[in-house]
Amino acid sequence: MILLSHIKRTLNKTAATALYLTGITQLLISSRLKQKLIVLMYHRVIPKKDIPGCPSHPGIIVSREAFARHMAFVGQRLHPVSITDLAQSVENRTPLKDKSCLVTFDDGWKDNYDHAFPILKEFNIPAVIFIPTDFVGRSTGFWQEKLFMLLMDLHEAMDSAGNNEHFLDKLPFEKDIRRIMEGDSSEIKDRAFSFISGIKNKSRKERDDLIWALQNKLGQTPGDSRPSDHRAFLDWEEIKTMEKQNVSFGSHGKSHAILTAVPEEEVFDEVKASRQKMHVQLGAPPLALAYPNGDCNSLVQKQVEKADYKLAFTTFPGLFAVSDDPLLIPRINIHEDMTGSLPLFAGKLARLW
Ligand SMILES: [Zn+2]
Repeated sequence: MILLSHIKRTLNKTAATALYLTGITQLLISSRLKQKLIVLMYHRVIPKKDIPGCPSHPGIIVSREAFARHMAFVGQRLHPVSITDLAQSVENRTPLKDKSCLVTFDDGWKDNYDHAFPILKEFNIPAVIFIPTDFVGRSTGFWQEKLFMLLMDLHEAMDSAGNNEHFLDKLPFEKDIRRIMEGDSSEIKDRAFSFISGIKNKSRKERDDLIWALQNKLGQTPGDSRPSDHRAFLDWEEIKTMEKQNVSFGSHGKSHAILTAVPEEEVFDEVKASRQKMHVQLGAPPLALAYPNGDCNSLVQKQVEKADYKLAFTTFPGLFAVSDDPLLIPRINIHEDMTGSLPLFAGKLARLW
């Protein structure tokens, strides 16, 4: 599995470099982005040296070094637009300029301020960050990061203890946890991340029960934040500072709940309450929302419209023209594995893979 994906990556890299050096990638970008917008979706931006210790899924991380290369490319080769430009084009039905590009970030990680913001300023690229308002200023990540760290702690505890059985006995998802712990140690992170992705759609209670049970086994207090933890999410001061300098903010719900998995009245509360909170904090309501995990359906869309958002972003890959549905704007997910080099990044923009 790992060997196959390694071969695929090497082939992609070789093909990407050849297409980039011959100018084919740039030609494809120009032809595919005629009067179209490409929306880039980032999450975390972290110095390359810190990536191995990061508890977030690799699919949401880009290195600071790669991000700087991306923004240099966007600034030189594309036409960067702000969320306000986009809302105006949609409202007035004015065609988008060729090679329009909007840079977006989901979740409002603090590293957006520390690492992405200086680069955005350097290249004068506007951006929009979608924040789940309950998480502003929080020190720990989402349940995914918490669970990942607990699984790593469990592995360490089992390694140093003589008798392992009592750690696994009667844990929720016992079979899965056993499989994660008992396989090859060098691949434990991959197994943990794929387990975590697989339980995304389980109920909040089921996930909380697992986190609680692991904390209990490890003798940790609920809500424990380790001394080494830095604040995970942006606070309002950082948000206000960025807002003054070309970075806009949109809603990512209130609690980052997957909107297709909660009752309709809760959907409205998520989108409405987060909008009100942002209005109070920032003096104006946000124009846009990004569906948490990209999940939406017609009911969710109706609530988003009712809450008066002008634009809403999914995670479906694709390009956008002003005649398309502004509450279903597609985005291209950008992460380190597939965009670590400029030819790979440009190939992704050309929609080669
Ligand atoms: Zn998110």
